Amino acid sequence: MPSTTTMSAKSMARVARASAKTEARSVQAARPVAGKSAASKPFGVRSAQSAFVGQQVQMKKTSSSASSRNAVVEVAASGAPLDRKLKVAVVGGGPSGACAAEVLAKAGIETYLIERKLDNCKPCGGAIPLCMVDEFDLPEEIIDRKVTKMKMISPSNREVDVGQTLSETEYIGMCRREVMDDFLRQRAEALGAKLVNGLMTRLDKPEDKKNGTYTLHYNDYSSGSKVGTPTAIEVDCVIGADGANSRVAKEIDAGEYDYAIAFQERMRIPEDRMNYYMDLAEMYVGDDVSPDFYGWVFPKYDHVAVGTGTVVNKKAIKQYQTAIRDRSANKCGNGKIIRVEAHPIPEHPRPRRVEDRVCLVGDAAGYVTKCSGEGIYFAAKSGRMAAEAIVERTANGTKQVDESDLRVYLDKWDRKYWATYKVLDILQKVFYRSNPAREAFVEMCADDYVQKMTFDSYLYKTVVPGNPLDDIKLLGNTIGSLVRANALRAEAAKSG
Ligand SMILES: Cc1cc2nc3c(=O)[nH]c(=O)nc-3n(C[C@H](O)[C@H](O)[C@H](O)COP(=O)(O)OP(=O)(O)OC[C@H]3O[C@@H](n4cnc5c(N)ncnc54)[C@H](O)[C@@H]3O)c2cc1C
Repeated sequence: MPSTTTMSAKSMARVARASAKTEARSVQAARPVAGKSAASKPFGVRSAQSAFVGQQVQMKKTSSSASSRNAVVEVAASGAPLDRKLKVAVVGGGPSGACAAEVLAKAGIETYLIERKLDNCKPCGGAIPLCMVDEFDLPEEIIDRKVTKMKMISPSNREVDVGQTLSETEYIGMCRREVMDDFLRQRAEALGAKLVNGLMTRLDKPEDKKNGTYTLHYNDYSSGSKVGTPTAIEVDCVIGADGANSRVAKEIDAGEYDYAIAFQERMRIPEDRMNYYMDLAEMYVGDDVSPDFYGWVFPKYDHVAVGTGTVVNKKAIKQYQTAIRDRSANKCGNGKIIRVEAHPIPEHPRPRRVEDRVCLVGDAAGYVTKCSGEGIYFAAKSGRMAAEAIVERTANGTKQVDESDLRVYLDKWDRKYWATYKVLDILQKVFYRSNPAREAFVEMCADDYVQKMTFDSYLYKTVVPGNPLDDIKLLGNTIGSLVRANALRAEAAKSG
């Protein structure tokens, strides 16, 4: 769902750059090998991006210095020609895996899309931005509901309606993941990917690092057996699209990330109440529903999803779930719970996302934004970008792939999205930290300019140029709201 941004693209970029400078400096100080080439560049978003990917450079035992990492963008593909088509295994058939497999298969690459559960119903709110519908050519049928209104509900239950600035054709799509994922997998299969119903269990690396094949072991469920038949395939390259508990990430020792735990109950509610949520979603903030995230009621096909998440106090997740259920009870009360689900949500990218001829995408890589917890679009996009890098750099799979080819994807990704992740991280820290700050946040959401900037950047995933006059007004309002929030917090602390 849209995370409410309070600044225009320019202001956001300014905040991001200032924070990037500090981060870049501290990473350089801590990084004696990689520091040289980064230090020779002027500070700015680009060098901060290097700092962002720098964590993985630091962790690598081999010679991946910053200069060699930067070089991959300029150096042409050098893989040896193959006398057969390149073979790529994509592990995981969610949005990231299915979108990667589609691009590979379309280019004629021998593609295996391995999914352990073909009717998997990923625990998810299922909200997608409008641009995803066009960009990924999604048919209308997979959008269950078009949300055009949002209610932001503050800790004191002040309600602010968001969405007035949307045009008649603009909406947030609500999908059932089992429907969307199945559609994307089938499309990849129709384009030539071999869809395998199997659980990947192990990955053996080749002795010949440059040209040997990886042996990917999986339990094949195609015969209908519950335990599966142990099977192995030989491939040149592996894309790990297997979600937050990625097996592929473990195999390449990609390192851990902090994660939030998200809890969600699907509720069937009476028809008149369901009508209320026809095109409306709700976001609740407050210490009671989450100390660091938000609680939600999202309309699904014939029910609502009520959930919350937290990083800082995972043990209390059920207590927060009770609170969001209580807060939304006047609208969804007496609903029948038809499904209870919980799943980790990554907080930031893994320290390593590429190793030799293996790369990670989507949740396996750690591409969920802070503040909004949005990951579907970024999963699909990263799968597509990784596959495009492979297709381009191997001339449609006629040459062997190597690590530098996969790093092209990583470099493009970080350049494109680094600022988005940073800004949302900052906003979460500023506005989700206390009830007074959350009151200020909801208050600001009443502003049309805030709503427009927020929806534009969420729906279209582009950096939206702001209006300088409105920016100044907004900055004043933001400061005013935060000052009031701090005063309230001080009062609250005094009284007890
Ligand atoms: C409660 C909750 C609500 C959310 N709400 C939203 C929302 O409203 N909007 C949004 O944009 N994002 C939301 N997210 C985040 C979003 O769900 C993820 O970012 C997105 O699903 C990531 O897609 P993916 O393809 O990378 O991974 P996944 O969707 O997790 O797919 C991974 C696939 O890999 C398969 N798999 C795993 N291991 C193996 C293996 N060893 N072998 C074979 N297959 C394997 C799994 O079965 C699964 O199908 C939410 C997350 C949670 C937990």
